[in-house]
Amino acid sequence: MKQPNPQRRGATRRIAGRAQQDHIRDPYEFRQKLAEGAVCSECGAVFQEGRWQWAVGAEHAPRQICAACRRIADKFPAGIVTLRGPVVQSQKDDMIRLVRNQENLEKTEHPLNRIISIDEDPQGLVITTTDIHLPRRIGEAVKRAFHGALEIDFDEGGYFVRVNWTQS
Ligand SMILES: [Zn+2]
Repeated sequence: MKQPNPQRRGATRRIAGRAQQDHIRDPYEFRQKLAEGAVCSECGAVFQEGRWQWAVGAEHAPRQICAACRRIADKFPAGIVTLRGPVVQSQKDDMIRLVRNQENLEKTEHPLNRIISIDEDPQGLVITTTDIHLPRRIGEAVKRAFHGALEIDFDEGGYFVRVNWTQS
């Protein structure tokens, strides 16, 4: 029988860009053994062909909870985005719309990549995510729309990314 890529489990790699990052699996995914066809009882995603997908689950499919929903329940983000500068206040609604739009585009293809929360603080907005890809996507979209400066700090071992955007 074919094993599902056990070598990925503890692998460490140097990261150059997004292409390589796509191979990194969230350690949260390995905390439980997932049954083929399982349906997430929180979000309805279906575990098929080794990954969670948006699909219609079978009627008596086993119920499990996907890594994204467990991170949401645990309030344990894999990514944090901060947006700083006067424009974050003055165009807050546009900023949040742009952020949500990026989330919708991302999670359509990758069900586990989602926003956990968007909070305001005195300097601007703080967004937390269930994954390490969405923060970069959000940061790059904000930079395209509002210019400014982007800082990305990726901790591969900890499966964690911090993205800071500052209006300049
Ligand atoms: Zn779920």
